[in-house]
Amino acid sequence: MRLNVLTSYLESLAPLAYQESYDNSGLLVGSPDREVHHALVSLDCTEAVVDEAIRLGCDLIISHHPIVFRGLQRFNGSNYVERVIIKAIKHDIAIYAIHTNLDNVAGGVNGKIAERLGLRQTQVLQPKGDLLNKLVVFVPVNHATAVREALFAAGAGDIGKYDACSFNVTGYGTFRAGEGTKPFVGQQGELHREEETRVEVIYPSDRQQAVLKSLFETHPYEEVAYDSYRLQNHYPAVGSGLIGQLEQPMEEMDFLGLLKEKLAATVIRHTALRGQPIARVAVCGGAGGFLLKPAIRAGADVFVTADYKYHEFFDAEGKTVIADVGHFESEQFTQQLLLEIIQKKFPTFAVRLTGIDTNPIKYYS
Ligand SMILES: [Zn+2]
Repeated sequence: MRLNVLTSYLESLAPLAYQESYDNSGLLVGSPDREVHHALVSLDCTEAVVDEAIRLGCDLIISHHPIVFRGLQRFNGSNYVERVIIKAIKHDIAIYAIHTNLDNVAGGVNGKIAERLGLRQTQVLQPKGDLLNKLVVFVPVNHATAVREALFAAGAGDIGKYDACSFNVTGYGTFRAGEGTKPFVGQQGELHREEETRVEVIYPSDRQQAVLKSLFETHPYEEVAYDSYRLQNHYPAVGSGLIGQLEQPMEEMDFLGLLKEKLAATVIRHTALRGQPIARVAVCGGAGGFLLKPAIRAGADVFVTADYKYHEFFDAEGKTVIADVGHFESEQFTQQLLLEIIQKKFPTFAVRLTGIDTNPIKYYS
């Protein structure tokens, strides 16, 4: 398969535009046009994982965490990041990272945690803003239906669980066709007045190209009058963390037991239990401390995340229970998620999970 067929599909589920500003998701090593035959999926792209790819004949590594975060200035192998890149290039192995863009979609990293814990009615804890666009276009009345339908098909008009959402109002437009034009209605050099529908639709900004393409293909005018602009609205389907409901409320100790089992955690560091049953559960794979306030506001009885520091635990203030399961532990099932996504879409493509435990943290007990 061509590499960009696979990466385009992954990016249709977790668009690169959804990644955080500090992130570096996407194709890190390799040409998008090359052929790939066998992919290896891992949480981290360590040297041991590259060695494993060489041993197994894999020509692509798909990892959650990008091996490169910032600009590299030298390639002399003085640290593990440089050595991974050098070795991958030498052995013609492509490296692709799908990190915070996969964190920020409801069916991504946190969706997998929620699935393992049996959470229902999940919602994004902190939806992202600046990801939605508005299109306003003026269409001759008899063509409004066709244009609207094309826009819907291109990904416009979805609001929550509603689709085909639009607003329409009829008025008239004016124009005078100049020299060298072939006006759809009216005559060259004459002022024309046409009954038009003003169609308004909302769409995710990563659909911009597709939406405009469908507009230009279906709108009958030579020159299409339209406005496209970015909205400040939050996009409820995209953002950090998830909150959901357990099927049955559980005692706190029972919940911690469930957490340990379902996330294969060696140890859970948590704040004082509150003597209240756990019904509402907030989750954020990896370092999620920045979501404590949204989790409390959303009524989370427990906030499952990782990378908490001593002083940050105090911030729970008895309003929720912070449960730190470990960074690797919280995200390890992301590997299965990626495997499932790829196998479902490309059933004949060879893809496998790494056999290497890349967790840099070991526990002595
Ligand atoms: Zn992580």
